[in-house]
Amino acid sequence: MTQLSKALITEITEQLVELNARIERQLSDLTDKETGSVFPNYGEGEDESAEEVATYDTNLQLIDSLKSDLRDTKEALARIENGSYGICKYCKEPIDEQRLRARPTSSSCVACKKALTQEV
Ligand SMILES: [Zn+2]
Repeated sequence: MTQLSKALITEITEQLVELNARIERQLSDLTDKETGSVFPNYGEGEDESAEEVATYDTNLQLIDSLKSDLRDTKEALARIENGSYGICKYCKEPIDEQRLRARPTSSSCVACKKALTQEV
């Protein structure tokens, strides 16, 4: 059972849903509606092509990070639904409320996160 208050869960759900929508919007902005391609099209000139490739690289990185954010957000929403939200996936202790407010997609407590990052 989670010890989080209903109000906080509601607040965080709203945040996550909004974040989810924002990421999906950003992803669709980066994708050509007709072709599904993420390659930008500035024009046929040589300068434009060089710029396109540079933007393409940036976009690919952005898309990667957006996709991973989207996965985190969806996972957090799934945890809210199955009641495991707010519980550290490593030590099964409740995650600090402040941490959840600052980063609603957190799935581990500060202590476990620290232990993990120090190991690497
Ligand atoms: Zn933990």
